[in-house]
Amino acid sequence: MSRLGRHRGPASETVAGPPRLPLPGPRRPRRVAMLSVHTSPLHQPGTGDAGGMNVYIVELAKRLATIDVEVEIFTRATSAALPPAVELAPGVLVRHVDAGPYEGLAKEDLPAQLCAFTHGVMQAWAGHLAGHYDLVHSHYWLSGHVGWLAAERWGVPLVHAMHTMAKVKNHALAGGDTPEPASRVLGETQVVRAADRLIANTEKEAEELLRHYDADTGRVAVVHPGVDLERFRPVACGVEAGRAAARARLGLPQDALVPLFAGRIQPLKAPDVLLFAVARLLEERPQLRERMVVPVIGGPSGSGLAKPEGLQKLAARLGIGDVVLFRPPVGQEQLADWYRAASVLVMPSYSESFGLVAIEAQACGTPVIAAEVGGLPVAVRDGTSGVLVAGHDPVDYARALHGFADDPALSVRMGEAAARHARSFGWDTAATATVDVYMQAMQERRMRSLHDGGSSPHAGALAFEP
Ligand code: UDP
Repeated sequence: MSRLGRHRGPASETVAGPPRLPLPGPRRPRRVAMLSVHTSPLHQPGTGDAGGMNVYIVELAKRLATIDVEVEIFTRATSAALPPAVELAPGVLVRHVDAGPYEGLAKEDLPAQLCAFTHGVMQAWAGHLAGHYDLVHSHYWLSGHVGWLAAERWGVPLVHAMHTMAKVKNHALAGGDTPEPASRVLGETQVVRAADRLIANTEKEAEELLRHYDADTGRVAVVHPGVDLERFRPVACGVEAGRAAARARLGLPQDALVPLFAGRIQPLKAPDVLLFAVARLLEERPQLRERMVVPVIGGPSGSGLAKPEGLQKLAARLGIGDVVLFRPPVGQEQLADWYRAASVLVMPSYSESFGLVAIEAQACGTPVIAAEVGGLPVAVRDGTSGVLVAGHDPVDYARALHGFADDPALSVRMGEAAARHARSFGWDTAATATVDVYMQAMQERRMRSLHDGGSSPHAGALAFEP
């Protein structure tokens, strides 16, 4: 007998047919299963497979936990020494799942391990009561495939974030870069169809989901990522004094022109365009060499792994090896100091779904010269908090650098505007907006299952107590 049939209402209602129960209002999720198959939130970002997505997951999960949404993040174990679970912050647990060999497995090989990963997720879930997770939030298409199955099995919604899209990347490849394979495009298309909600970083990404993947408009929500405004901020004494102090700490000359690159070193991010631009600038203005330092912070990643020393060799070939300072990835506290010390952050990327470093640098009071691609026009206010450049011609980046070389006060002026602009990108706002998306997805699913009379394919999901 259905729940409606069991309801004992007043006689008049019985005569008129089964009484209607009030429709349930939207419910907040208590616990979310977050999936990050190919990279761990515990990894150092800025090299290999760890970058903005790792930071996104950590920051979002921490903020969700502070508003009473517990998060369990499932990621592939990459060492035998890892414990099965680690508390990342109160209310945020990282679960290590055994799937394939711990080391030496490239991201490209992971599709073959998705079944093993899903098995691990199911095992972790099997020890809980039904309803343990209210929702699955998957990141990147590989996780989307695991989420597709897990969400269906648990009878909960799947919320997915693409982070990057093969079709978008392939449309804007750096010269000679390897395109993303057709199998990824297919996998992404399936996840787009399976997800109850897709979270896009910007309107542009939302539009790309519709255009390239035929996503359903009603299922796409835009949530701007945030920035940790406590960690990334100008120091209290102001942008100019903060820059001087950071330069002193890092051993950089006070009067230097410091265009900074920070992030994963791969053709997609175009650090070579910055080097070509610097070489051109020094050709035109040789006297600048005395006061020019170009820090490049990060490690090889993606197709950049094929030539890990490629950028160093290019700097030597261009005759600017003496001004470029290569540094391995650093923790975010230290990165904040590099941002503060820089005259300007340079991001000549070919594609960027958002570009967290752009907003982090601005939050520290540093303007940004960025390619006009992906989320960068949202992250950077052209002419106010930085300069947007159309295309990837080093001549244009050299011209933008000229502005900062000619007028050192420009960096401070734009830096102050940049810090104000960045303040609207807090993670708290992003977390609240994400919970709204979760609630919409949960509510829609409940309404659908009420409409179907509880005959959802998930109704028979098994779960037992430990
Ligand atoms: N990052 C870091 N240390 C480094 C270089 C980068 O922690 O030495 C972090 C940086 O703070 C940012 C992330 O790596 O949050 C890069 O994110 P972004 O969105 O710019 O690029 P993605 O890696 O997603 O392509």
